This record gives sequence, structure tokens and C-alpha cells, in this order.
Amino acid sequence: MRVGIVGAGQLGQMMALAGYPLGVRCTFLDRAADSPGAQVAPILIGDLDDPARLADLASRSDVLTFDWENVPGSALAPLEGTTSIRPPRAALEASQDRLAEKALFSRLRIPVAAHAAVDDEAQLLAATRKLGLPGVLKTRRLGYDGKGQFVIRTPDDVDVAWSRMGGAGLIYERFQDFSREVSIVGARSVRGEIVYYPLAANTHGGGILRYSVAPHANAALERTARTYLKRVMSALSYVGVLTIEFFVVKGRLVANEMAPRVHNSGHWTIEGCVTSQFENHLRAICGMPLGSTRPLGHAAMINFLGRVPDRDRLLALEGLAFHDYGKEPRPGRKVGHCTILRKTATERNRVLQQALRSIEWS
Ligand code: AMP
Repeated sequence: MRVGIVGAGQLGQMMALAGYPLGVRCTFLDRAADSPGAQVAPILIGDLDDPARLADLASRSDVLTFDWENVPGSALAPLEGTTSIRPPRAALEASQDRLAEKALFSRLRIPVAAHAAVDDEAQLLAATRKLGLPGVLKTRRLGYDGKGQFVIRTPDDVDVAWSRMGGAGLIYERFQDFSREVSIVGARSVRGEIVYYPLAANTHGGGILRYSVAPHANAALERTARTYLKRVMSALSYVGVLTIEFFVVKGRLVANEMAPRVHNSGHWTIEGCVTSQFENHLRAICGMPLGSTRPLGHAAMINFLGRVPDRDRLLALEGLAFHDYGKEPRPGRKVGHCTILRKTATERNRVLQQALRSIEWS
């Protein structure tokens, strides 16, 4: 089976690595020859929305998939006749625009934060009056890891927010006073079979995921998260791994966003589950049976941000797995992660605290 992956970041790299034992051979498309994916599989060099490059990748692949979901639907549409695009274009398009995404969630009776589209300063002022303060002004498209966001706390912040971010294509969301952030990752096969990973509890700093712990044992939340994930997957005739991130507000789930791909909060499944999210994504899009998502213990995944920490110090911790994506250090950049897997949550938490002492985020 030949899989073409649009985007050669760390998600693509881990996908290609998961593909080798299955006999799945991946080829990437991305701009730089030293992208993380290119370190483990062949790459075509070009822009991710270049029609000729995409057609070339499609001609070398039985199925096309994504490490990066922001490829314009218009660039993918011409390929639909010649290759399978999994996940489907509709899922990518819905996730590319926060407004479209929230409309989809609402249509499927999945709670979202009260929000309003903002295209000029008067609309922003009206939105803050209608929805109240505090709130978050975000770009509708291409925002990630807290980029393209501004928290508006007081009426005076409106002007500041507008001068920093002003323009068309924004969304204002009511601030969610959450007790926790959780995410669910699942996979749907071509035949419509669905498997779900246990919930992960995610800790962010400055909008970027710092660490996740899983399984997050909360049967009621897990049941609801599964129901919501299934609704989205079924509505989109989804194939592959899909992630939804939620805020837990007064014990209820409020959907923040979805990712039509493997997700950072699912990296723990490499060591922490019978079948990783990367393998299950490939199994799903290649028409293979899905693998068990049973957890093998209590896991924690910590992101390396900015630079890779002292490897040997971390490797000295029992049950720790180290992942270096081979990226140049840069502030705020995800350059690697480590996963801790232990028999009990108490043990996991102890080693997590030890590991956190060796990791500086920059
Ligand atoms: P996002 O890019 O939407 O995933 O946002 C990144 C992070 O910013 C989230 O994981 C939250 O920690 C925080 N955040 C985003 N939107 C809101 C909101 N409406 N209320 C409170 N915190 C938010």
C-alpha cells in the first residue's frame, strides 16, 4: 500500500514509522528537504497547495492523507477522481474555519462556546456587549497552538485586540471557565467501524499543549465524548483518525475544536496502547481492520518545546520513551516529546513530576 502524506512534520514522521511494519510505504509533500517526515521516507518538494505537486503525489499513492489539515479544498477537489482522499475533503474544510466547525458541532447538538463572527471593529464591540467579557478573539483560519488569539478582559482591551489582530475573518468566543481540558481520539474504518482511545487530560501553557495524561478516568465524560466523536464521524462519512478537544465546564463537555488527523494529545498511544493512533490511522485509510485501543498502563506525554532537553537524564527514568523529531530549535516549536508509562496513576504522576523537573519550555 502506498500512502501520500501532505505535510512532513512530526505527525507525518510518526505515521511513516508506524507504516513500515505494516508494509505501508509513505511519500511526503512539503517545502523543506529536511522536514521531520523526510528523515524517514521519500519527499516531494513543493507547496502543500501546489496543484501539480499534489497531482504528482496522488499519482504515486493509493491513498492521500494529511499531516496538516489546512490544504484548501479547491486544491484537493481535482484529485478526488483519481485517488482516495482520507479523511474526506468535507472534514478538512469544516476544520479549517472555526465558524464552520462550530456550525457543524451545533448542528450535531454538540455544545460549543457562545460566539460571533467578527469582520470589523464595530462587530467586535457588538460581540463583546452581546456575549460579555472576558472572551477570546481568534482568527477563523490557520490559528494553531494559541497563535492568532487575544484574550479580551476589559472594555479597554477591545481597541488593543483590534490593533493587534484587526481585520476580516475573526471570531469572538465567550471565555470558558474550564476545570480541565480533555480530548478524545478515535478512528473510523472504511466499513464504518469505530474505535476510541481513552480520554486524555491536557495541560496547556500560552495556548500550546505542555503535557497530557491518560487514561483520564471519568466514565461519564468519556461516554459523552465518544457519542460526540461518533456523531461527527458519521455525519462526515469519516475515514481515519479524528480528534476533538473539549473544555470541561461545570462537569459538562464544551467542544473547542477538532483535528481531522492524528493529534499531539494522542502521542501517548505509541507506547501506551496496544495499537497507536498512527497505526490505526494508516489501518483505517488503507482499508485494514482497526487495532485494539486498550491502554497498557497509565501514561503521561510531555512536549519538548523550543529545544530538546537533556536526553540521558530523561532516559534514566524507568519506563520513559524519548522522541526527537530532528527539528531545529526555535522558541515555542514542538521539537520532540517523551512518554512515561507506569502500572499505576500514582507511580505515573511521580515520574511525571520527576521528568518535568528536567524539562524547560522555551
Ligand atoms: P485553540 O487554538 O482554540 O485550541 O486554543 C488554544 C488554547 O487556548 C486552548 O487549549 C485553551 O487553553 C485556550 N482557549 C482557547 N479558547 C478559549 C476559550 N473560549 N475560553 C478559554 N480558554 C480558551
